[in-house]
Amino acid sequence: MSSTDHSAALDDAPSLAARRLTDLADRVARSGSADAGGDPAAKVDAIDVSAPATAERIGSVPACDASDVDAAVERAREAQAEWAATPARERAAVLDRFGDLVLDRRAELLDRFGDLVLDRRAELLDLLQLETGKSRRTAVEELFDVPMGCGYLAETAPGVLADEGRAGVAPGMTTATVTYDPVGVVGVISPWNYPLTLSMADALPALVAGNAVVLKPDEKTPYGALALGELLEVAGLPDDLFQVVTGEGPTVGPALVDAVDYVAFTGSTETGRVVAERAGRNLIDCSLELGGNNPLVVLGDADVDEAARGAVQACFSNAGQLCLSAERIYVVESASDAFVDAFVRETERLTLGTGYDYDAEVGSLIDAAQLDRVRDHVDDARERGATVLTGGRARPDVAPYCYEPTVLTDVEPDATVACEETFGPVVSVASVPDTDAAVAAANDSPYGLNASVWTRDRDRGAEIARQIDCGTVNVNDAFLATWGAVDAPMGGFGDSGLGRRHGPEGIRRYVESRTIGVSRVGPLTFPDRIPIDWFVRGAFAALSLGRRASRGVRRLKEQIRLR
Ligand code: NAD
Repeated sequence: MSSTDHSAALDDAPSLAARRLTDLADRVARSGSADAGGDPAAKVDAIDVSAPATAERIGSVPACDASDVDAAVERAREAQAEWAATPARERAAVLDRFGDLVLDRRAELLDRFGDLVLDRRAELLDLLQLETGKSRRTAVEELFDVPMGCGYLAETAPGVLADEGRAGVAPGMTTATVTYDPVGVVGVISPWNYPLTLSMADALPALVAGNAVVLKPDEKTPYGALALGELLEVAGLPDDLFQVVTGEGPTVGPALVDAVDYVAFTGSTETGRVVAERAGRNLIDCSLELGGNNPLVVLGDADVDEAARGAVQACFSNAGQLCLSAERIYVVESASDAFVDAFVRETERLTLGTGYDYDAEVGSLIDAAQLDRVRDHVDDARERGATVLTGGRARPDVAPYCYEPTVLTDVEPDATVACEETFGPVVSVASVPDTDAAVAAANDSPYGLNASVWTRDRDRGAEIARQIDCGTVNVNDAFLATWGAVDAPMGGFGDSGLGRRHGPEGIRRYVESRTIGVSRVGPLTFPDRIPIDWFVRGAFAALSLGRRASRGVRRLKEQIRLR
């Protein structure tokens, strides 16, 4: 591990120094997960981390192996026993304080932006930009998101986790109560595109539900996760309850799946299948937040200027490296020309850059492989006859992996860009005869993560939303109307995943439910003192009566509702 790396990207970051990155990397070692003895120097294997904005090396983190993972999980397991015994309300309070800490750093940054160099409080934003190459406008979204999630959990989790009374088998004679216990140690595997948001959206509900968490961030973006681990400690989380294990996915990932009691995975569909298979073999549950090839539908009555602005946000936020990004646009014919004109105009207005200010809207792609993928998808579409309406080229003058926001049309249905997720700033637009055709085209995909519908008639929009096979559908918005609704579940249909994050569903995935049935009349079996045939006849009569009575109540309720 080196503490002496210097790069232009690091020099530009107002609040970061190379030493700070080394300190963060040392947190992996100090957690005991980088080597058996806890001595960072003893860990020779390391992974270099680069800044996408300049393609320079900025530091390194330990390349943990299976034994490191086992050690981290073992320690997490010990810490978890005490945490599970802490009342849910107290656990929630710790997270709420954590949210404040994240907010403080953001507020400080917004107040004192430009007050360069040694302002350590701005470091979360700087870290995010440094390790992802995203624009500051995109990075700041993650700093809104994490505290919002904390506030929601602090308020809701105690109720969601409280014991629940349910109907007993024989009302009056028996009761049924459901209790929710933590599963134990949760493994969180997160991707590089939103390193803070996507680690915390899975880790925080697991913690509040009484679990320990061992997080494996993507190897390209480990520092944000390590910085948040430090903040969780400051917020009062017990030692070892949250640990970060850095390393290569194919090494650390499977070891984690083998050692934990639940896996929350966010990443590609391909890796998601590998994780699900392994979790299945171990008979542990998992949630999989995977890829998408998300549709955006513009109906004939849409306000095309508003739809065009929304489409720009839907397609090019985080340079299109967003699982919820729209990559396919279907416009009803009558609105098509006006929409396409407005959309291309709005796209061409976008500013590119990776500076540590709020000037640029679209930042860099994460690395050379991602740039190659985007370039290949666009070139393939072109070779099959697609027209590039705007963009269509790399912009090394902005940053080594930067690619222009690109709008394609006349894309063949079998072009790669039409069938696969590009995960870059590329979208194809097609005109369709009517709304039914738009819905059919939107649903013509193995994925089903997110969709967006644009219309002046909001009720009709909500009706169309029900016909689209995606886990979240936004009417007259790109993705924030659903992603930001942290009380509502979020996840994918089909190849986009399994399970849901956010809302009560996002908390309950991390608990074992236990039903406790109590009889007030002794064992529920055939009574001794009545001949059995009499009892059976009486029981059937009571059952029929009960069914008739409940049908009557249902009908009455329906009539009241209709009035
Ligand atoms: P990826 O699947 O390659 O990597 C994701 C994580 O899995 C990383 O931490 C990686 O190290 C780890 N990993 C790699 N091999 C592994 C293995 N064999 N076992 C366990 N873990 C392993 O994904 P990526 O390409 O880096 O991320 C982009 C993808 O993630 C896109 O497809 C995107 O749509 C998806 N994504 C989905 C969501 C969502 O919420 N649905 C959010 C963000 C990203």
